Amino acid sequence: MMNGRGLITCRQRSGILSMMALLMLSMIAGCSQSNPNQGTIPEQSPQTQATVSTPVAQLGKTKVVTTFLPIYLFTKAVAGNVADVEILVPPGTEVHEYQATPENVKAIATANVLVKNGLGLEEFLENTVKNAENTKLAEIDASKDIKPLNEISPIVKTRKEEEDHAHAQGNPHVWLDPVLAKQQVINIRDGLIAADPANKATYEANAAAYIKELESLNNEFQQTLQKTPSCTFITFHDAFPYLAKRYNLKQVAVVQIPEDQLSPTDVQNAVNAVRKYKVKALFSEPGVDNKLLSSLSKDLKLTLHPLDSLETGETEPQHYFKAMKANLQILETSCK
Ligand SMILES: [Zn+2]
Repeated sequence: MMNGRGLITCRQRSGILSMMALLMLSMIAGCSQSNPNQGTIPEQSPQTQATVSTPVAQLGKTKVVTTFLPIYLFTKAVAGNVADVEILVPPGTEVHEYQATPENVKAIATANVLVKNGLGLEEFLENTVKNAENTKLAEIDASKDIKPLNEISPIVKTRKEEEDHAHAQGNPHVWLDPVLAKQQVINIRDGLIAADPANKATYEANAAAYIKELESLNNEFQQTLQKTPSCTFITFHDAFPYLAKRYNLKQVAVVQIPEDQLSPTDVQNAVNAVRKYKVKALFSEPGVDNKLLSSLSKDLKLTLHPLDSLETGETEPQHYFKAMKANLQILETSCK
């Protein structure tokens, strides 16, 4: 109830899937008909092309499969037009408890590259990759060399054994810190270059442009949030510890793993946490209209705003900046 992310129906979902399939078909058709050389590097010599040995790569673009939205956005930004990028977890479905479909297995079976967030987020992936039996698949772990956080912010959880489980590989929500997002983009860029060296120059140029935007986003966050140091907020999704650490905020996460329902215990925990910490704001998720939460915020005289974890949303690479700037605005208002 708390969470809109898990509520999509099968009908909606298959609708989205077939829409995506149609879109992809039309993209493929559009590319092969109108402009087969779109996106290739001008200085690319026939010799470089000859070094690409697999039939798949010779006939078409590198096929890259990504797991969920932020990783799709970053990969799409780096790949531009020179590789085909797909997403396994359709926006609107919950990544934390995602169950793979036969289509997912097929997508991985025919892919050249798989890009994941890592840090234990994509629990469905190990078996799905196994079932796909694709021995030539190159895997990119976008969180390579990122040091995960464990207990950086107070986490109020209701079940001890699940807390231990959840922390096996640290918190996975690194993409919500623009600085770590930059590291993810670098990892994706390097992985794509290794898998498809013919398009190195394009991957480098695209990544550089996106990284520049991430750097200016980081500056914007820094300049805005330094005015409200140590602003403490409560979330019901333990998604913002990296962002909080980066910009000197304090997240108190009141969550009951698997974080998709708000129980009376959670509400009581929130009340206790507000008393214990000097809390400025309560944050829910976009698209979530929870009466329990809004009456709680009224009782506590705290603002209730949506803070976007970007686990779902639009599939344009620029969506990352749009959603993060909206988050910044909400943080600024709430922390005043
Ligand atoms: Zn999450």
